[in-house]
Amino acid sequence: MKRVGVIGGGQLAWMMADAAEKLGLELLIQTPSEHDPAVSIVQDVVFAPVDDASATEILAKKCDVITFENEFVNLQALSLLAQQGVCFRPRLEALAPLLDKYHQRCYLRDLGLPVPQFFALDEAENLKSKIEYLGFPAVLKSRRHGYDGQGTFIIQNFATLEQKLTLNQSLFLLEEFVPFERELAIIAARSVEGEIVTYPVVETQQEQQVCRRVIAPAQITPNQVAEIQAIAHTLLNSLEVVGIFGIELFLSADGKILVNEIAPRTHNSGHFSLDACETSQFEQHLRAVCGLPLGNPALQCASAVMVNLLGYENSHSDYQSQRQQIVEIPQAHLHWYGKTESRPGRKLGHVTVLLDNQNKELGSAYTNGVGAAIAHTIESIWYPR
Ligand code: ADP
Repeated sequence: MKRVGVIGGGQLAWMMADAAEKLGLELLIQTPSEHDPAVSIVQDVVFAPVDDASATEILAKKCDVITFENEFVNLQALSLLAQQGVCFRPRLEALAPLLDKYHQRCYLRDLGLPVPQFFALDEAENLKSKIEYLGFPAVLKSRRHGYDGQGTFIIQNFATLEQKLTLNQSLFLLEEFVPFERELAIIAARSVEGEIVTYPVVETQQEQQVCRRVIAPAQITPNQVAEIQAIAHTLLNSLEVVGIFGIELFLSADGKILVNEIAPRTHNSGHFSLDACETSQFEQHLRAVCGLPLGNPALQCASAVMVNLLGYENSHSDYQSQRQQIVEIPQAHLHWYGKTESRPGRKLGHVTVLLDNQNKELGSAYTNGVGAAIAHTIESIWYPR
């Protein structure tokens, strides 16, 4: 397997470039716009939306294997290609239960994994009883195509719920609001042979439902780490995944873990691995989908902090001066996605700062304190006051 076709050409495909070169692979993408980040770093591009299966057919003719950096595809149409022999990794059956958030919750529950209480909203008359059961606040989610908090609404009262549901309510899922203490994530990879490796569990910090920072490793107990690794193994084995999956979780104040969401691809919570791990999630994904042995996912430093650089205005600026100040921070690694347009909330780049824990006695207090201080420094350079 030498020629890898990627459906999607955003930053996740862009970040595969170095690994593809290192492994001697050709990278081709299917993406709608010539301005998409990965267009400039790949061997060939099929310009088309990610859900255009006839474009994927063209891509597949040039590739040995097709993988995904974006899961908003037309599975039904792609399955015809799979029947004709196109090799998808992960296989389409591994994506099928995940693309609709309600189906995803059902799949996880049926596997015995812990998830928040949830309901589909297909019968209007049941709305009152469902919300009485869950109470307020409750969380309303679009079943399909949600990302970066788009389509996730925290609902405080019945009037707002009804207002949001003027659209077809079967498009939504309703679930309990989890008063989590922290949010966690794990990146896991499974090879063609069924070998699984997991990255260190990380803490993710969201604001307005969008990831702002990631701290690796999360300061949790060894039992909690083991529980989360076991969730990853159960899920990846059950779906017979080949490639990387990201798993987002909630940790409650009394130490309980719930699965929030599965990303069937590389994930923002694993970006730290580019600089902090021997094998990044992007290299690991390519290794898995090409049938190569998996690499070492361990941290090569004591800890790391990743900060997303999110757009905060509509602009065409390349933010040279802020980027210059950020790269001057010791042990900072800046990844700038080269997007030509900034919009509020858009992911424009990220920075990972590696921490060598000189002061072992302070342990997690050191990571938390220094990590928070570094994140604050980066954000005060990046965001206007
Ligand atoms: P998306 O697919 O848009 O990333 P998520 O389901 O991951 O949507 O939700 C985004 C964020 O919204 C989460 O990281 C979390 O901060 C918050 N959130 C989502 N579901 C819940 C919930 N049931 N209870 C509390 N907060 C939630």
